[in-house]
Amino acid sequence: MPFRPDAAKEEISVDIHVGDVLTMKKNHPCGANSFLVLRVGMDFKIKCENCGREVMLPRGKVEKNIKKIVRNETIGG
Ligand SMILES: [Zn+2]
Repeated sequence: MPFRPDAAKEEISVDIHVGDVLTMKKNHPCGANSFLVLRVGMDFKIKCENCGREVMLPRGKVEKNIKKIVRNETIGG
């Protein structure tokens, strides 16, 4: 897929980092809707917090399905 710097600027860019927990609009088949972010980029790798299954999703699809981003700011330092 060629990179087009002039395209996709209209999209609302969501600030997501590794370690964030995403609350999604759509539930995982196991019933949970919170996912830990393992990798960000063109594709996102997220892990279901309930059953531990890892899923790869294109960025656009993840951003569309986010209901809430939970950042663990208290951990580390
Ligand atoms: Zn699950």
